[in-house]
Amino acid sequence: MKIVADLHTHTVASGHAYGTIWEMARRSSELGLELVAITDHGPAMPGGTHRYYFGNLPILPTVIEGVSLLRGVEANILDAEGTLDVPARYLANLDWVAAGLHSDCIEPGSVEENTAAVVATIKSGLVDVIVHPGNPRFPIDHRVFVGAASEAGVAIEINNASLTLPHRRGSDGNCNIIARLAAELGVAISLGSDAHSPWQLAVLDSAISLAKEAGVTENQVLNTSTDKIRHFLSARRGQRNT
Ligand SMILES: [Zn+2]
Ligand SMILES: [Zn+2]
Repeated sequence: MKIVADLHTHTVASGHAYGTIWEMARRSSELGLELVAITDHGPAMPGGTHRYYFGNLPILPTVIEGVSLLRGVEANILDAEGTLDVPARYLANLDWVAAGLHSDCIEPGSVEENTAAVVATIKSGLVDVIVHPGNPRFPIDHRVFVGAASEAGVAIEINNASLTLPHRRGSDGNCNIIARLAAELGVAISLGSDAHSPWQLAVLDSAISLAKEAGVTENQVLNTSTDKIRHFLSARRGQRNT
């Protein structure tokens, strides 16, 4: 599987990550990536940045060091209604809106509560991808989740860090089930390194293996072509504006 993009990365703006946007773009260029999405944590994350940071992101160029930049966010889901920590008017101007559940920002609930939060977020029409949905701290109904993503045309992430780092240990089994369901329904898959430094950029091996084992086709994986990403995003923009 030829990977041309990393769709989940953090910079110093996240408060616990170590590269600037320029450094992330330069490293992406060195690695031969064509595109990188910068997805810093939303303001509810301790040590994160103010919401104005995301309001102002569109001033950045769309290409840095020859690498296309998706000016994005990893927004925090705050409640069972799918409320996000970045105002909708800012999200509307970003290129790539990821959202996920983080225990610093919402108490893990029952399967029903967690599923409701994620499904409401999908149905809000404000987000492009749900990140690390296999986190065992937030158990969800996999079939309901994948069905909602399929219906709304929202991508599902396979997060490499969930499979390799200790903080979401135990994600593998859930990710496997989610990826199998996504393969069945043909849901767009987004691979994310969740790099918190330039040195983790494009480290996606575990996510790729899991996707392949689950029967996810190369065609389903957004990271394999910038055309595919742009096509997906233009369809999303249509959804977001309605
Ligand atoms: Zn996250
Ligand atoms: Zn992240």
